[in-house]
This record gives sequence, structure tokens and C-alpha cells, in this order.
Amino acid sequence: MQHPFKDYQEFVAEDQPLAPLTWFRLGGPAAYFAKPRSIEEMRGVLNRAHEAGIPSKLLGGGTNVLVREPGVEGLVIHMESPFFSDVTVGEDRIKAGAAVPLTALISQAARSGLAGLEILTGIPGTVGGALRGNAGGRQGAIGPFVSRVTVLDSALELQERERDDLSFVDRGSNLDEPVILSAEFELTPEDPESVVRRMRRIWIVKKENQPYGHQSSGCIFKNPSADISAGALIDQAGLKGTRHGGAEVSDRHANFIIAHPGAKADDVLHLIDQIQQRVWQQFGYELELQLRIW
Ligand SMILES: Cc1cc2nc3c(=O)[nH]c(=O)nc-3n(C[C@H](O)[C@H](O)[C@H](O)COP(=O)(O)OP(=O)(O)OC[C@H]3O[C@@H](n4cnc5c(N)ncnc54)[C@H](O)[C@@H]3O)c2cc1C
Repeated sequence: MQHPFKDYQEFVAEDQPLAPLTWFRLGGPAAYFAKPRSIEEMRGVLNRAHEAGIPSKLLGGGTNVLVREPGVEGLVIHMESPFFSDVTVGEDRIKAGAAVPLTALISQAARSGLAGLEILTGIPGTVGGALRGNAGGRQGAIGPFVSRVTVLDSALELQERERDDLSFVDRGSNLDEPVILSAEFELTPEDPESVVRRMRRIWIVKKENQPYGHQSSGCIFKNPSADISAGALIDQAGLKGTRHGGAEVSDRHANFIIAHPGAKADDVLHLIDQIQQRVWQQFGYELELQLRIW
């Protein structure tokens, strides 16, 4: 068969391992893997995939994705080029490309004396991934700061989506277009030192409560409601520390699964199943995945 991406070989690879690009560091390769360096290249490769009937997925920082053992049969597009990583600071707003690490955006806003985003301190991943999943925590989420998002829609047309047109819910948004390219955030001018101090305080609390330094994603499940936490249900079900193969329910935060050396994606999937069954049997809640499984 003719190579479906033969005109794009400069930035499309075959059989590319995905594990090193995700925080779980598990799972198989992508059949096709592209790193477009401009909107035109992004459009071209997506268009070709569509013509060839090849499904495509977008990978940001890989902090909320678990790749299965066989890998991804279609095309994975990795957004990491400098072209998608611009940050522009204004008087009361900041604009960032989708590939910008969220931590870099938060630091830059704080140093520029723009307050708001520091509540997201400690959340890894990119701006694109954060917008897709409305990243956040107890102090709030990214959604309310967004004034505009630039996307490529399903016809691969550039579209500006304004605040009124956007809706954000707990760990989700209506940004369902194939590609989020950049976003503008409206923030509050404030003394940079006090924003940076707040950022440091939030980071200390976050580090104490989540298992950083391990192979893991973030929370595996969404909370069933605003006052019922998935982590508390898993803890009350007595599952903290439960192991299957190389995967373990974190002792520090029950909604995290840690992958120890030698773990397989299947070990994590088995634990996910076990947690869902136990929480359903004991409490009658169907835990919904926050983690994306590829
Ligand atoms: C230690 C740790 C702590 C965490 N703590 C939190 C937390 O407190 N709160 C929280 O909300 N999350 C948390 N997370 C989860 C994760 O950081 C967020 O979900 C993050 O926003 C995902 O961004 P990403 O770039 O890594 O996305 P990825 O994991 O790469 O992708 C996630 C989804 O977003 C899509 N996507 C990514 N970029 C784009 C784009 N440009 N256009 C269209 N779709 C895109 C992907 O296709 C995929 O469906 C944590 C994760 C870890 C590892």
C-alpha cells in the first residue's frame, strides 16, 4: 500500500513510541505520528488523514492520557512546535499558544503582575489540554478566565470562539473541535510579588496532597458531584494501596494510580475496573473516567 502521508514525511513518522510522551509512560506506539510546524501543515496532515479514513488524535503534554498496550492505530498529532508556543502579555490579558506548558503560562502571568491563573499552580500539561478538560481544582478552574479561543473546526477552518459561546463544566468544556490553537485569558492586574507568593503557597499544598515524582496521570475519575469526591469514595472502599501487577492505587491520594517499574497499561486498566466495581457495589456510584484511554 502506498504510504498515506508520503507528501508529509518531513514531519510524519511511523510506529512512534508514545510511552515517553505520556506521564504514565506506558502503552504502545502510534501507527502515524506528526509534529506539524504551522497551521498549514496541521491542516494538510489532518486533511490527508480524513481522505485516507485514518482516525486522528491530538496529544498535548500527555498528563491525562493512558495509551493501551497495542498503541494507537491511527494518526497522533503532537503539538509541541515553537509555532504553537507563543505567549503575548497585555495590560489585563495574556494570550498563549495551545502547546505552552500551563506552568509556564501561570509563571509568566504572575511575573507580569496578572492575577487569576495562579490557582492552577501545579497542574501539569499544556494550555490546549487544560482548555479541553477545564483543568482546575478546589480553588477554581481555567474556564472563567478565558475570553477567546482560536480553533480549527471539523472543516479545518480557523474559527474564533468568544466567551459567550464557550461553556465549561467540571473537568470538561464544549471545546470539541479537533484542534485548539491558542487562547486569550482576561486577568486582574496586581502586584507581581503577591501573585508569586500566592503561587508558591498553592504549590506547597498541592505537593503535599498529590503523588508527584511518580509515573501517573492526574485524577483517574471525575467527582460524582460537587460534594462527593471520587478519591474519598475509593478511600472509604478500602482500596488505597491496592496493587495489580505494577500498578497501585496511591496511598497519598486514592484517585491517583501509580505505575511502578515494569507496570503495563493493562495493570492500570485492571485497577480502574476493580475500583469502578467496588465503588458501585459499596456506594452505588458509577465512577466516570477523567483519564482519556487511547
Ligand atoms: C501529577 C498530576 C497532577 C494533576 N493535577 C490536576 C489537577 O489538579 N486538576 C486537573 O484538572 N488536572 C490535573 N491533572 C491532569 C492534567 O494535568 C490535566 O488534565 C491537563 O490539563 C491535561 O493537559 P495535557 O496537555 O497533558 O493534555 P493531554 O493529556 O495530552 O490530552 C488530554 C486531552 O486533551 C486533548 N488535547 C490536548 N491538547 C489539545 C489541543 N491543543 N487541541 C485539542 N485537544 C487537545 C487530547 O486530545 C486529550 O483528549 C494532573 C496530572 C498529573 C500528572
